[in-house]
Amino acid sequence: MKRLDFLKEEVATLKNENRFIQPHVLQTAQDAVCVIDGKEVVNLTSNNYLCLTTHPKVKAAAIEATEKFGIGTAAVRTIIGTTSMHEELERRLAEFKGTEASLVIQSGFTSNTATCQSLMTSPEDVLISDELNHASIIDGGRLAKAKKKIYRHSDMAHLKEILETPEVKNSRRKLLVTDGVFSMDGDIANLPEIVELCEKHDVITMVDDAHASGVIGPQGRGTVAHFDLKGRVDIQIGTLSKAFATIGGYVASTKDLQGYMQSVARPFLFSSSHPPSVIATCLAGLDVIYNEPERLKKLWDNTKFFKEELKKAGFDTGHSQTPITPVMVGDTVKAQQFSKMLFDEGVFALSIGFPTVAKGKERLRTIVTAGHEIKDLEKAVAAFKKCGKALGII
Ligand SMILES: *Cc1c(COP(=O)(O)O)cnc(C)c1O
Repeated sequence: MKRLDFLKEEVATLKNENRFIQPHVLQTAQDAVCVIDGKEVVNLTSNNYLCLTTHPKVKAAAIEATEKFGIGTAAVRTIIGTTSMHEELERRLAEFKGTEASLVIQSGFTSNTATCQSLMTSPEDVLISDELNHASIIDGGRLAKAKKKIYRHSDMAHLKEILETPEVKNSRRKLLVTDGVFSMDGDIANLPEIVELCEKHDVITMVDDAHASGVIGPQGRGTVAHFDLKGRVDIQIGTLSKAFATIGGYVASTKDLQGYMQSVARPFLFSSSHPPSVIATCLAGLDVIYNEPERLKKLWDNTKFFKEELKKAGFDTGHSQTPITPVMVGDTVKAQQFSKMLFDEGVFALSIGFPTVAKGKERLRTIVTAGHEIKDLEKAVAAFKKCGKALGII
């Protein structure tokens, strides 16, 4: 295809800049230890926090729902794509988040874009966003008609300054959006101060708890519960693709917001709904979260152990407060080498470079789960030490 020849150059540029991505291929079920590209490795990359991917009750729920409702809905939610299970899941997610209602959308990504786009409909509106917010919030801002104001990461003085500018003060609707847990650094947003500032300046608050739902707060209910701010955050976004280990997202808020968005949110209206099996796994996943609290405890025990061992070994692990632990390297090529060497040692941890993180902040990003055993983590730490020393990182 001659007209696509320009892509040869684009691909060459990506390769030159070490930004060309070729996915690794998983050949077993996804677990704490699995086979990737033909090699058995300790997996430190996935968001499978509670190890629900292979939970027997969750798998059984998917099969049962398929038998009862078939494999798919073949329609958008507003036509014939809403089963009784979809409704039940929305009720139960609202209960999980302590809100009046919730709306399930295809993914966490589209939940963010849909919410920003649906609420921010005029240039007289303003969307205020942390500079390290997830790409889906950035794209949500692009789809929104509002002005955008970006504050430095978790910098409350900067946020206050922005809120006090006449331009923001005089805006029609004001929406502040923040990740609850920042996905690359693993730090938690300063929600108590954000909420206080937003209450004072009459700003709608929206927290994206993709990495917090099922992970932090009592029963894994997320950052709002963690900070005891129930009723004070207007909109909570969650994903079903991380701790829930399946696919989807949701917006938990008021009945009015649910009703409004199910009438206007474009991904909800124009993209088909989840297959019954997916919804069933989310319902079963919620049961596991409530009934097997030992999973959440093990996740945090593992987190503590792994972070401490890496720190003791001399690695810079940033300022994470969650199971996401960055291992700072500061150079793209070195981070990629580090990842390759670890793979040869039977440990799977991927490098993250520019533009996902800033130049100079290149790193390996690790996540432990409830599925890891101490021996898996010990093996990982030993490999990190060996390769880290070889590369002069420690
Ligand atoms: C992963 C992630 C999303 C996207 O969720 P998906 O359900 O995978 O689309 C949104 N926001 C944040 C902060 C994330 O980390």
